[in-house]
Amino acid sequence: MNGKLGLGGTGQRSDGRCAGQERHLVHWFRKGLRLHDNPALREGLRGAKTFRCVFVLDPWFAGSSNVGINKWRFLLQCLEDLDRNLRKLNSRLFVIRGQPADALPKLFKQWGTTILTFEEDPEPYGKVRDHNIATICKELNITVIQRVSHTLYYLQQIIDRNGGRAPLTYHQFLAIIACMNPPPMPEPPVTFQTLNGAVTPICEDHDDTYGVPTLIELGFEMDGLHPPVWQGGESEALARLERHLERKAWVASFGRPKMTPESLLPSQTGLSPYLRFGCLSTRLFYYQLTDLYKKVKRTFPPLSLHGQLLWREFFYCAATKNPNFDKMLGNPICVQIPWDKNAEALAKWASGQTGFPWIDAIMAQLREEGWIHHLARHAVACFLTRGDLWLSWEDGMKVFEELLLDADWSVNAGMWMWLSCSSFFQQFFHCYCPVKFGRKADPNGDYIRKYLPILKNMPIQYIHEPWTAPVSIQRAAKCIVGY
Ligand SMILES: Cc1cc2nc3c(=O)[nH]c(=O)nc-3n(C[C@H](O)[C@H](O)[C@H](O)COP(=O)(O)OP(=O)(O)OC[C@H]3O[C@@H](n4cnc5c(N)ncnc54)[C@H](O)[C@@H]3O)c2cc1C
Repeated sequence: MNGKLGLGGTGQRSDGRCAGQERHLVHWFRKGLRLHDNPALREGLRGAKTFRCVFVLDPWFAGSSNVGINKWRFLLQCLEDLDRNLRKLNSRLFVIRGQPADALPKLFKQWGTTILTFEEDPEPYGKVRDHNIATICKELNITVIQRVSHTLYYLQQIIDRNGGRAPLTYHQFLAIIACMNPPPMPEPPVTFQTLNGAVTPICEDHDDTYGVPTLIELGFEMDGLHPPVWQGGESEALARLERHLERKAWVASFGRPKMTPESLLPSQTGLSPYLRFGCLSTRLFYYQLTDLYKKVKRTFPPLSLHGQLLWREFFYCAATKNPNFDKMLGNPICVQIPWDKNAEALAKWASGQTGFPWIDAIMAQLREEGWIHHLARHAVACFLTRGDLWLSWEDGMKVFEELLLDADWSVNAGMWMWLSCSSFFQQFFHCYCPVKFGRKADPNGDYIRKYLPILKNMPIQYIHEPWTAPVSIQRAAKCIVGY
């Protein structure tokens, strides 16, 4: 361990060193769980003598009953992968238990930290947390460096160019960014060369004190947990990106999301959970697409893959200055709708027991695997809100937040407002029929059979509406409606 360093001295320089003082870095991972395109970490490493990469298990996240086990497993896999990648640099990840504002200052003192780096958090909750830490660091004479890398753009610039307000139509958003410089290029991965001699002091009891916990250690019951369909981590994210881009023709012709029984199953290339946790840099994805578009003829936003990433950006931008973005009340962009309250109907929707096989199969896939196709999300969101149950989008958003691996505070709330016609989109007459839409997407009922095995013997013509099957057929299929 390094010795104690004077933290209270004067003469602090903007690079995290007091005159004659060594530079001792802590990089704080939150999202952005990667070593590629990590500008804050790279900057912090410049001239550093020691560095420690930390992740704080924030009770806001850890203790929250609103985070499902699949999501926890994914996060722990991301941390394990980060630890493995840091070991390759003779370093380790330090997983710290506690509240950042309590735990970090103690460690800064113990470690003689002179500089703290992290990725700038675009979301209001994160901004408040980071402001608090920056204030503490100022008192401790620790330099704080934040860099934008979770989004493509510095969102405030977009807002400034729109007269201080976030653009509320995608068209307007595209028009603004068309006049701006392209997003910054992704930065190269951190390697031995980047470390330039910086080392991580590692104690013998590192695993006991700072190891990545297991699900059991976090108090989860493992009984009945399915093997993971999604493997978290930067290594998996980069491998998926490569596979994704190899399908050049598919990428170039990417269009309006189509739903086939195949696309309903977990795609081998779905990247949203990786973008959510920052295992994959949006800028890397964006620029690799740009390179590919130079070689092949392509579609244009909003339907291109570039366009999809810009949708993500659009919602982040709309939410960044609106702490009530995930609420109806007090949210200036949300139409106020007198939604019903019906705890029983909500619970049936959330647990896949509405009686509509198409809706219930989607909710079963969400619960078991943590990811569902975009149009499947449309189907269940429309059903819960304006389509059938007339329940608040906030209730649906919370269930997605718990179960969806890719649930982003900004994108999730934005899409729920969209689907319920509460903001952004007002074509409330356009509803998805839970039977007809399902039949179109899953004509043979294979998807329903996979996620609702109770219906596995139901003939095709009844599988989307089993209540219309004659009782003799229901008996033969061993699924009698109402029992
Ligand atoms: C009710 C509802 C809630 C949703 N909640 C989320 C969420 O919390 N997080 C999330 O990332 N997506 C959300 N989406 C959008 C979309 O369904 C997913 O991004 C997409 O299904 C992810 O699959 P993919 O990675 O294969 O996407 P691709 O089609 O391969 O697109 C590439 C990336 O672009 C981004 N993207 C694609 N579509 C959208 C969109 N409509 N809005 C914003 N970004 C988009 C995602 O980051 C995605 O990974 C939601 C959609 C609905 C209808």
